[in-house]
Amino acid sequence: AKFEGRNRVCRYDPAMEAEADARITLESELHRALERGELSLVYQPQVEAAGRRIAGCEVLLRWHNAKLGTVAPPRFIPVLESLGLIGAVGEWILQTALHHAKQWRQRCGELQLAVNVSSVQLKDANFAATVLALLQRTGFPPRALELEITESTLMECGETTLANIDRLKRGGVRLAIDDFGTGYSSLSYLHQFPFDTLKIDRSFVQNLHHNRNRELARHIISLGHTLRLDVVAEGVETEAQQEILRKLECDLLQGYLFYRPLPAAQFEAALRQRG
Ligand code: C2E
Ligand code: CA
Ligand code: CA
Ligand code: CA
Repeated sequence: AKFEGRNRVCRYDPAMEAEADARITLESELHRALERGELSLVYQPQVEAAGRRIAGCEVLLRWHNAKLGTVAPPRFIPVLESLGLIGAVGEWILQTALHHAKQWRQRCGELQLAVNVSSVQLKDANFAATVLALLQRTGFPPRALELEITESTLMECGETTLANIDRLKRGGVRLAIDDFGTGYSSLSYLHQFPFDTLKIDRSFVQNLHHNRNRELARHIISLGHTLRLDVVAEGVETEAQQEILRKLECDLLQGYLFYRPLPAAQFEAALRQRG
């Protein structure tokens, strides 16, 4: 045993060692995930609250590894960030999703593409330039791309992040505030940053049957509309939730009630059916 401070003794802890091993495996496997083609993208439709017509989709990252099986994004995305790999992976996500979405727009008409952006990507001074160059190279209209930025990203927002947000905005890209209502000062971000869309977090949607939450949702939606933002609700799972959100005049809905996140070919099939 090793002494640390006065009375604390650090003993060998097999559970902690197992955890450290798992982390090392995760890291070493993740280093090769992109080149080995283990990463893929799924697209979850966002539907108009009135009429359920598909208006766009959110692209979500998936990782399947031979040793580890399927690993959930909240487990591996922070590791991509700490390993410094999120920049390259983020660029691959954008490039791949823009390529698909461009074809869908040509074959099936108007479509909005929403892409999640990590705080680490926004801290890269070249981020906005890279996004705008990708748009130009693909010939994808900037107005049809929406970048989703979480409240936690804005909390730790520095000069570089601000400059990126400003440059993207001036380039015509749309910005969404993601997981709205889960942070500490959601309201102050709304007027500080040039958002186009407000995404109500799933935690509010889950509890809409409680009066208090319904009133909160009503106010979030009307706040969004007052600021001329589109309002999207995520995690809609039941008819009852849909009905309430429609009555509250939420613009777009996203959730398992309508569609799960779909592989590209299945998303295109759903798009063709919308007519
Ligand atoms: P998020 O941006 O809030 O994404 C929504 C999550 O809710 C997705 O989980 C989606 O599959 C899930 N979801 C959608 N509809 C429903 C529903 O009706 N019920 C329930 N229970 N869940 C629903 P996923 O794909 O596991 O992603 C989790 C988080 O990982 C995302 O949360 C996002 O923060 C992050 N993430 C996923 N893909 C990317 C990516 O490409 N880049 C970055 N930077 N982060 C990503
Ligand atoms: Ca999101
Ligand atoms: Ca979200
Ligand atoms: Ca969320």
